[in-house]
Parts: sequence; C-alpha cells; structure tokens
Amino acid sequence: MRHSSETRPLLFPLLVIVLAILHSTPGSASELVVERLTWAGVKLTDGDTTVLVDAVGTDLWDGEAPEGLVPVTVDTRRRYALITHVHNDHFDVPTLQAVLGERGYVICHESIAPYVASRGLRVIPAKEHVPVVRGNFVFTAVPAVDGFGDEQVSWIIRSGDKRLLHGGDTLWHGMWRTTGMQFGPFDVVFLPINGARVAQEPMPSAPLVMTPAQAVDVAEQLRAKVLVPIHYGLNDPPAYVEVEQALQQTLDIAADRGQQAVHLRPGEVLSWRD
Ligand SMILES: [Zn+2]
Repeated sequence: MRHSSETRPLLFPLLVIVLAILHSTPGSASELVVERLTWAGVKLTDGDTTVLVDAVGTDLWDGEAPEGLVPVTVDTRRRYALITHVHNDHFDVPTLQAVLGERGYVICHESIAPYVASRGLRVIPAKEHVPVVRGNFVFTAVPAVDGFGDEQVSWIIRSGDKRLLHGGDTLWHGMWRTTGMQFGPFDVVFLPINGARVAQEPMPSAPLVMTPAQAVDVAEQLRAKVLVPIHYGLNDPPAYVEVEQALQQTLDIAADRGQQAVHLRPGEVLSWRD
C-alpha cells in the first residue's frame, strides 16, 4: 500500500491508492476503479460501465491546468456522465459529445435537463433523493448550493458496497448532516476546497465555494472514511481568487481533526480489491 507523502501515514485496510498512473484501466467485474480527472472531474469504472462526474477534457486553463490536464477517455460499452451543474468547468459539452457518442447519457438534475438536451446530448433527468439505477451503479442527487445561485446538486454514487459523494463546487449548507445520516457513511467524498471569490459588485466577503475547513466539516458530517480534495489550484486575481495553500490547508486541518484526507492528483486512481 502506498499513499501520498503529504498525508499522514494512516491505515487504509481495503483502499489501495495507486500513484503516478497516467490513465486508469478498466477493472474486473468486481473492482471499482476511481480516477481523479482535472479540476473537479472524476471517472469511475466498474466492469463494463464507466461513469464520469464533472469531467472536463477541454483546456480551459490555457495550458496551465491545475496539476495537469488529463484526457477524458472511455473504454467500456456502457457510459454515463453525471454533472453537478452546467458551469463550463463542470460541464464540457465537446468532451461529453465525443466520449458519450450515440451510446452514452448525461445524468443530471431535471431542472437543467432541457438545457443539456439542447446541446445535443442524451439525458436522463433525475429528481433529488430519487435513485437512478444503471448497471451496478446507483446514482442519487442530493442538495447542493451554488455560489452564483444557479441550480446544482451533489451526487451520491453507489457501486456494490462502495459509496461515494461528489460535491461539485458547492457551498457549505444545512443539509450535510441530514445527507450523512441518511446515506452515510461514505467510503470516499470528493469535495471542493478552494474557497473561491469572484470579482463582483458589491463584493461579498463570503466565498462562493467551500473552504478547506468547511470541506473537512462536511467530510465529518458525511462520516467519510476518506476526503479527496477537488476544485483547487487556480488563482487569477482579481477575477478569481482562491484561499492560499488550499490543498495543504485541507490536509493539515484534516490531520488535526483525525479525518483521513488524500491528495489524489489528476490521473491517479483509487481502487479497492475484495
Ligand atoms: Zn467550479
């Protein structure tokens, strides 16, 4: 077992973290493989099914994508793309059109389904708290709050006995505890950490994305075994300003509070072996 040097040497009984792998390979029928993609993106593969979440393969960062731009590829027959919301750092239309083709579907909250469909993608609309079952996967949209007031959900993804949550770029909100009580504990939660502030008039002091401390709070509320930080590493003041050292802050706060946190770089994978 190996883990990042930036995390505490904690035990991972069933969790195998494979570092320095550029691309994940599809697992066997009983193996869930989770690859972090660029920015907020995550790719899950289990048997003949691939699930993308907020996958962005287009270079939005002019060659300087935080921790590198990972190609979004799909090798399996079944393919689905979940999106938390339609901002372009979470919903990459050309990439999804390319990898979903004629066979794949976007799964999104029903409120944004017409917009997604208008972009030439096949859509499965979902209601909050109503499970969508496809293959070995169960997807459930749960409440999120977008910093700009747009529609956003977080996704709970279940595959076999593994349960994950992807938090897009949500704010802290009052439903985390309920979500944790209803659906927890989670094996892994992917949560935004950069506490971004965007130039606005008037300029609020509150960030538009969860901060490192809030992300650790959420991991605790969800009873997460492992927190994987996403959505960090971009500073473009004054237009877009994130908290300083967002990743290291998250790892430090988590360590102080006994919350397992793993720095998973884009292209690195988590897998579990039964
Ligand atoms: Zn975002």
